[in-house]
Amino acid sequence: MSHHAFLNRLFPQSVAVDLGTANTLIYTRGKGIVLNQPSVVCFQRTSDAANGRVTAVGAQAKQLLGRSPGNVETVRPMRHGVIANFSAAERMFREFVDMAQLRSLFGRRAEFTICVPSNATAVERRAIREAALAAGAARVTLIGESLAAAVGAGLPVGEARGSMVVDIGGGTTEVGVVSLGGMAYETSVRVGGDQFDAAIISHVRSVYGVILGDQTAEHVKKTIGTATINVPHERMCAVGRSLTDGLPRTIELSNHDVAEALAVPLKAVIGAVKNALENAPPELVTDIAETGIVLTGGGALLANLDKRLAEVTGLAVCVADEPLTCAVRGAGTATDCVDSASFLQ
Ligand code: ADP
Ligand code: MG
Repeated sequence: MSHHAFLNRLFPQSVAVDLGTANTLIYTRGKGIVLNQPSVVCFQRTSDAANGRVTAVGAQAKQLLGRSPGNVETVRPMRHGVIANFSAAERMFREFVDMAQLRSLFGRRAEFTICVPSNATAVERRAIREAALAAGAARVTLIGESLAAAVGAGLPVGEARGSMVVDIGGGTTEVGVVSLGGMAYETSVRVGGDQFDAAIISHVRSVYGVILGDQTAEHVKKTIGTATINVPHERMCAVGRSLTDGLPRTIELSNHDVAEALAVPLKAVIGAVKNALENAPPELVTDIAETGIVLTGGGALLANLDKRLAEVTGLAVCVADEPLTCAVRGAGTATDCVDSASFLQ
């Protein structure tokens, strides 16, 4: 065995992957984040549905969502944090691994550490493993998403003090109470950014009689979305299709419209946080009362969500730095730690 091969075996190259409902990120030690793309893939429609050529992936494919030509199928293979369409997920994953040029980074197959939602079933975990092996992983380790997010947010996960992380992704909200390198309590609800967008679409449809596209709704959410109504009015224009004549119509939306629309999905998020506070071991809840709650995931960027959660829990709530990348950085850091064995499943 050459010296190099020996070192490789001694220190296997590890890659962390966050295969999220909305975004996929890949992180390597040394290089940091080498891929950050929407979890979307386009296939050419053929008579043999499983074998259509991949025509676009990631940001390019996301642009085609809801506007792809008839011979192209645009797919979001992940739903609520797990694989919903296996063959599409597998092929998207392979494209991303190629884009990240992991092979040229390492000159050999790497070990993957992949984030999974805490409530993923054995079948769902196995599907993620298989997709990673098919994409070229030499070995696969799974790590709970809230633990990864907590590590990435810089919470003191190795200490006996309990801390709480709330990760709001595209299709799930994961609440975790971490202590001594493990999850002392976890709960999750199948509500995230996608459900926020859907709530905006349904509200605008019933109040204005206009149907917004998914991407327009997401844009509205990011621009004037707010989790509380106690803020000054802000307005923006959005174009949708009128229910009455089927023609394009421009409407003016206010942040209060959006807050009203978001009330229902936010209730589920708030419910999950309260549920965790009510059911986690009392000593840890006492710790959280002192240290507060950290928000991660893209949903943490919804304006005033931290204020709203602080109001309803009476605790200090803050948004982690770079909330969209916490989970993948945390998964990468967890595998870097020599004594991380207890983190990993
Ligand atoms: P996942 O891990 O499920 O892929 P992410 O953590 O990447 O999800 O978060 C993606 C979600 O965050 C999307 O629903 C997106 O619309 C939402 N998001 C991103 N930026 C903002 C923002 N500024 N305000 C509100 N939501 C946002
Ligand atoms: Mg996520």
